[in-house]
Amino acid sequence: MASASSSTAVQLGRIRVLKQGLINQPSTKLGPVVYWLFRDQRVRDNWALIHAVDQASRLDVPVAVAFNLFDHFLGAKARQLGFMLRGLQQLRHELERTLHIPFFLFQGEAVDTIPNFVKECGASLLVTDFSPLRQVRGWKEEISKKVSGSVSIHEVDAHNVVPMWVTSDKLEDYARTIRPKINNRLPEYMIEFPALKPHVKKWDTGNRSIDWEKLIEHVTSEGDEVPEVEWCKPGESIALEKLKEFAKNRLMNYSADRNNPTKPEAVSGLSPYLHFGQISAQRCALEARKYHKVYQQGVDKFLDELIVWRELADNFCYYEPHYDSFLGACDWGRATLMDHAFDKRERICTLEQLENAQTTDPLWNASQLEMVHHGKMHGYMRMYWAKKILEWTSSPQEAVEIAVYLNDKYSIDGRDPNGYAGIMWSICGVHDNGFQERPVYGKIRSMTYAGCARKFDIDAYIRSVKKLVRDVKKRKGEILVDS
Ligand SMILES: Cc1cc2nc3c(=O)[nH]c(=O)nc-3n(C[C@H](O)[C@H](O)[C@H](O)COP(=O)(O)OP(=O)(O)OC[C@H]3O[C@@H](n4cnc5c(N)ncnc54)[C@H](O)[C@@H]3O)c2cc1C
Repeated sequence: MASASSSTAVQLGRIRVLKQGLINQPSTKLGPVVYWLFRDQRVRDNWALIHAVDQASRLDVPVAVAFNLFDHFLGAKARQLGFMLRGLQQLRHELERTLHIPFFLFQGEAVDTIPNFVKECGASLLVTDFSPLRQVRGWKEEISKKVSGSVSIHEVDAHNVVPMWVTSDKLEDYARTIRPKINNRLPEYMIEFPALKPHVKKWDTGNRSIDWEKLIEHVTSEGDEVPEVEWCKPGESIALEKLKEFAKNRLMNYSADRNNPTKPEAVSGLSPYLHFGQISAQRCALEARKYHKVYQQGVDKFLDELIVWRELADNFCYYEPHYDSFLGACDWGRATLMDHAFDKRERICTLEQLENAQTTDPLWNASQLEMVHHGKMHGYMRMYWAKKILEWTSSPQEAVEIAVYLNDKYSIDGRDPNGYAGIMWSICGVHDNGFQERPVYGKIRSMTYAGCARKFDIDAYIRSVKKLVRDVKKRKGEILVDS
């Protein structure tokens, strides 16, 4: 298999220059390279880190990684923040131990902390990873204005296998339109990562200890209404182990069973790691592809979800400014939902009833409880869950708002482009085709309890969720009231 150097990454268009400073003027005395790490929180297989180290070696300057912990980011709670910080604790250890690269942790607003740090250390180049979310893009614009004119800023798409801006320069309507654009480029992009060596130009940063336990305790106690989950241990080493175990033992069933919520072992469970960048999608794809000869169907299907559908979500959030509201519906979806805006709803549920899993549908309630207590709902149930919210609220606007609010609050992999695209697919028809017209849904694809009953054993799913909830409550020492 071909492997790459970071200059290959440049040639392949993985890096784009957000701001040109002085680094291309050889006579200038240059400061260190700072990698502001946001979305791709890992040491291994990280094109942004590879680029930062490569630039630092080329310029013969030190390199550092900086992370900014926001006071509030999209309502993250203990569940998401605990997972992230424990992962970062391991990342720092690995970064400093194996690569001799210092890690700086800041708290507050990145638009202040990052430019201040760049100024204090006299950095000549700021490298950052890519996220399509509007908040992150807004910060980058602000930071570009705030750092001195001599500083360059490079953005690296370390998240997608084919960089988002290489795949397409426009909003893609369907998976079928983006698929050939991605798949045609895969031979160039599905390459082995270059190995990183310890960085030679040292940065003497003194003693900068971080009291991780205190920090995690503080942050998680503030957001403890949504507690951390036990089953999903953070960190890139665990992520890699999970990937290997899935590819070897479970990928064979992916194609047949991935839509069966009573067989959760058929799916990878990698989304929390992918969301926080604790594993690279390219690594997952490379690992899965090793099994192509033996489980061709499973591998093809997995790669389609992991690459095509995941990268379609980034495309959607990048090119559609209203990716998390009804305003972002596709034309036909908006039109058909408006045609049915005044249809009588069979029932209306309040946010409180939905959040507390108090609807009259035991299947829906089970999926909501799975998300609230386990922290991750099965992918098939996510579609049913969101579509029922459309059916039981007074408008599609409200349905999208509630679905985004609940998914982002309780899902360990929430606040992700996949979540926004998944909700817009379910409720507004984004990336989907029209179906037979019916009340409330219009031409949006509907899902029913009876349809689920034909596909899988609903009672078995409900029983399995009850067990999950019971186990969580037992661990927390809560008194059990069995329902
Ligand atoms: C209403 C709704 C909400 C969703 N919310 C989220 C969310 O908050 N975070 C999130 O990561 N995904 C979300 N998804 C997409 C998908 O359901 C999850 O990615 C998947 O269930 C994660 O489990 P897994 O890692 O075991 O998936 P696997 O089936 O093992 O897939 C491997 C990876 O492929 C990607 N993938 C799989 N299915 C999809 C898909 N339909 N669209 C985009 N990428 C996909 C994910 O990165 C996933 O981790 C949502 C889907 C819907 C319909």
